[in-house]
Amino acid sequence: MKPLRGAALRRELLVQPGKPFKLTSCDPAETYGWDKDGAAAVLDENSRRLESLQERLWASKAGPVLIVLQGIDTAGKDGTIRHVMSAFNPQGCTVTGFDEPTAEELAHDYLWRVHRATPAKGSVAIFNRSHYEDVLVVRVHDLVPKSAWRKRYDQINDFERQLTENGTTIVKFFLNISPDEQRQRLQARIDTPDKRWKFKTGDLAERKLWDQYMAAYQVALERCSTDAAPWHIVPSDRKWFRNLAVAEVVANALEGLRLKYPPSADGIESIVVE
Ligand code: AMP
Ligand code: MG
Repeated sequence: MKPLRGAALRRELLVQPGKPFKLTSCDPAETYGWDKDGAAAVLDENSRRLESLQERLWASKAGPVLIVLQGIDTAGKDGTIRHVMSAFNPQGCTVTGFDEPTAEELAHDYLWRVHRATPAKGSVAIFNRSHYEDVLVVRVHDLVPKSAWRKRYDQINDFERQLTENGTTIVKFFLNISPDEQRQRLQARIDTPDKRWKFKTGDLAERKLWDQYMAAYQVALERCSTDAAPWHIVPSDRKWFRNLAVAEVVANALEGLRLKYPPSADGIESIVVE
């Protein structure tokens, strides 16, 4: 199989809006024709593409662009930010991690903290977890009554549509790993002193709820993949493929904006500087 790139790869990863979809049929070890060496060869090229695209976004104050990263513990949200998004100039890029809500956040509606972190024109905002936790962990642990969380899928679609209608491009990624890969990664966190800081004993209790989390993801991915804000399932057992796939999809989305450098602010095309 010829390695898939750009729009062709994106089509494979996309959760087709309005179509039936089964998360359990998605293979976390799929690589769409790529091998590790081949992927390494395009890594630098993709970094340069992302760098140049983001510079044009910032210069033209176009967009903005919102990238949502979701996935179970150890799926690779942090690693994706480190490896892929490091191509972006920190000027014009924000990263927001959504942890358990604070007392102040809980005193507001669940989208309050999310809306505040959305990107301004010219910027890229990356969400490490997101408002989807409010239909994932919240649903799995009954943190609010069912009557409250079941309304949130439509509310989230409305919220995202409102953002896109006002100019934001939204790209959402679910980093899909297998239970066995998670076991190995959790073990590595415990065994490696440099990684231990990431491990919480609570992660083991969450791991026992794997099936409940996957059921919650199934519903969120199916109901909230829209033309305005589509979900992509990224096979993430292999970190090199995950990095390649996210970079390809983000670059493809940015290229779709047809970003150009703006002319000089005061219309000057030539001048002699003495
Ligand atoms: P980590 O990403 O490992 O730093 O962990 C963040 C934790 O915050 C995860 O266990 C999430 O499930 C949790 N979290 C994020 N958003 C929410 C939310 N809205 N309600 C409850 N827990 C949340
Ligand atoms: Mg964690």
